[in-house]
Amino acid sequence: MRLILFGPPGAGKGTQAKLMIEAFGLPHISTGDILRSEVKNNTELGKKAKAYMESGKLVPDTLVTEMVKSRLSSSDVKNGFILDGFPRTEGQARSLDNILPGGIDRAIYLETSEDVVVQRLTGRRVCPKCGTNYHLKNMPPKKDMICDQCQVGLYQRPDDNEATVKNRLHVYLQESEGVLGYYRVQGKLENVSGDLDSKDVFSVIQKIISSLK
Ligand code: AMP
Repeated sequence: MRLILFGPPGAGKGTQAKLMIEAFGLPHISTGDILRSEVKNNTELGKKAKAYMESGKLVPDTLVTEMVKSRLSSSDVKNGFILDGFPRTEGQARSLDNILPGGIDRAIYLETSEDVVVQRLTGRRVCPKCGTNYHLKNMPPKKDMICDQCQVGLYQRPDDNEATVKNRLHVYLQESEGVLGYYRVQGKLENVSGDLDSKDVFSVIQKIISSLK
């Protein structure tokens, strides 16, 4: 099963991906996670991507597409995958169809309102060691600002402040129309409300996946 999880930052893609991995055992490929790790390790790609990411802009298509192509050549994705955060532009969607003969099975779009996105992202805190996401209000750690598993201090992603979040959402909505249209025409687009509680979102996704089997 080749699935794309699509939606603005803060739509809950990470949470849904986690539930989908547990239920279906598919590898999860998040371009945001790969890029953050490249930045952290100060690789050539990381150095090129850093400024774009910190200002909430998209990293150029050529860089991201090469990165995804290389990830999709690994043996663990033979039986399928969940792509999260890619494609973000129509050009990336076309490149993906070139990389994968037959294309993807479904693009699941988590449609989410601006208020919900800002509330979720400005409250998000992340463990620098294991990458677990918390939320100050919705999902606080047991001890204030300390990861439950690693016992290290949580941090706020530099792009999770309100101004950058609104910019990321704006960029996202502008760019995403092309991708949505691309998969709509192919009959592969599934719209799901990302404003719903994560359990309710997941049960809609489960129905979509069952219908593919
Ligand atoms: P995310 O964690 O998906 O919100 O991604 C964080 C940042 O990484 C984005 O704001 C972009 O700067 C960059 N990024 C992630 N995926 C892509 C992509 N498919 N194309 C371009 N830039 C991306």
